[in-house]
Amino acid sequence: MANNDTNDNWNDGTQLPVLGQADRSPQSAAMPAAVAGPVPTVSFVSLGCAKNLVDSERMLGQLAEAGTLISGDEQLADTIVVNTCGFLESSRTEALDILEELAERKRAGGLKRIVVAGCLVQRDGEKLRECVPEIDALVGVNNRDDVVRAVWRMDRDAQTELFLGEYHGQPWHDQGRLRLTPNHYAYLRISEGCNQKCTFCTIPSIRGPMHSKSADAIVAEARELTADGAREIILIGQDTTSYGFDLVGADGAIPREGAFPLADLLRRLDRDVIDARWIRLMYVYPSILSDEIIDALAASERIVKYIDIPLQHINDRMLKRMARRVTRRQTEELLEKLRKRIPDVAIRTTFIVGFPGETEAEFDELLSFVSEFGFEAAGAFQYSLEPETPAGRMVEQVDPVVRQERYDRFMLAQQQVAFAAAERYVGREFEVLIEGPAEGGQVARHAGQAPEVDAVCLLPDAEFPVGTFVPVRCVATQDYDLVCTPTPSA
Ligand code: SF4
Repeated sequence: MANNDTNDNWNDGTQLPVLGQADRSPQSAAMPAAVAGPVPTVSFVSLGCAKNLVDSERMLGQLAEAGTLISGDEQLADTIVVNTCGFLESSRTEALDILEELAERKRAGGLKRIVVAGCLVQRDGEKLRECVPEIDALVGVNNRDDVVRAVWRMDRDAQTELFLGEYHGQPWHDQGRLRLTPNHYAYLRISEGCNQKCTFCTIPSIRGPMHSKSADAIVAEARELTADGAREIILIGQDTTSYGFDLVGADGAIPREGAFPLADLLRRLDRDVIDARWIRLMYVYPSILSDEIIDALAASERIVKYIDIPLQHINDRMLKRMARRVTRRQTEELLEKLRKRIPDVAIRTTFIVGFPGETEAEFDELLSFVSEFGFEAAGAFQYSLEPETPAGRMVEQVDPVVRQERYDRFMLAQQQVAFAAAERYVGREFEVLIEGPAEGGQVARHAGQAPEVDAVCLLPDAEFPVGTFVPVRCVATQDYDLVCTPTPSA
């Protein structure tokens, strides 16, 4: 089981607990009662981003509902489902390497069935079978809910079962998941797809236009997750800021000009999801982060003072070539406004280095901006040439050696910034969420640290229950991480 097999929700025998199963019709699982033959034992490989992880959790929930045996150990499974990422060349290579490994096992008789799902299927479809003929079924992102049919091989005659439909704007939900994250936090996808047109990005061509879940569905899902033990709910989407622009109101009207349904959603979650201690907003798009959304964040009790806002670059010419619809001045004004309106806000961002045409001077501008602004957390990606994107057709591609060199210089500069940001926590008191054991103690996170991507807090000699909140004092730093001791009231 690749990625996140931290939740020990696996066994090879009895029916597995699926969230909120009681109140959900079995139809969605398409019970394969009619299919003869042994019950499949399935293991899952979940690749890619948190949105894909939610799809994996929902597919596992449907498989468990259908009576499939789920194994945490791939060696015990006769069927492997690989939920792929197709975003970048590197993620496609990773998926194909894993599929080749499984094909080898199948050729050796160690595996009966290989089911491939996710973005790589949506992007490349049947071509995947030419690369790996041992694949038995392909399930696109718009056909996620066909995974039970694919695993139980409903269509015996088909050489390869294809579940590969076009984008459909059907209302959808992610309730009834078998969660892969540790119990105390959960991802909640509020929208999928994207209407932005960043010139380097393949996601809109894979996931389709932005489509939002209704606020009722989101609140119901959040309550299902907190009822299952999640204390932190992490709101995700490709571009969460555009949430709700596609939702036609009860009165049939689309959201009024200047309205930001995300602000309403945040206020509602803050009010109604009382069992969530932390609600975290990720994947914010800079050009549409409105005052109304910022005010909703600032005024909330549960929504942590944390913003994940990929900026990609700061130089105006680069931002234009990336079609980011924002300028340097607008970006700086937005960041200053965030820090003014939400004191102590932790800002996380990511940049692309080596974008086609990026000159040394434009990269230096990015480097000095990052050194001056002082993001609590910032990462960089080397530009990845995606042939089917506008940027992929740009002639001024930057040499891979230069891309790597700029990446190394960026990470070194940001390291200094991050170490200084960590130092500013020494002597401060705050609460942390206990994540689990670590060498000589426990690892935890404060509200300004998202799971899996940000630095952590180290608590030497601590033995608190995982998933509990503990008041601490920061007494030192260890590179990016904070060393903390519980305060007397702990
Ligand atoms: S906002 Fe831009 S980078 Fe993000 S998914 Fe949409 S098009 Fe891609």
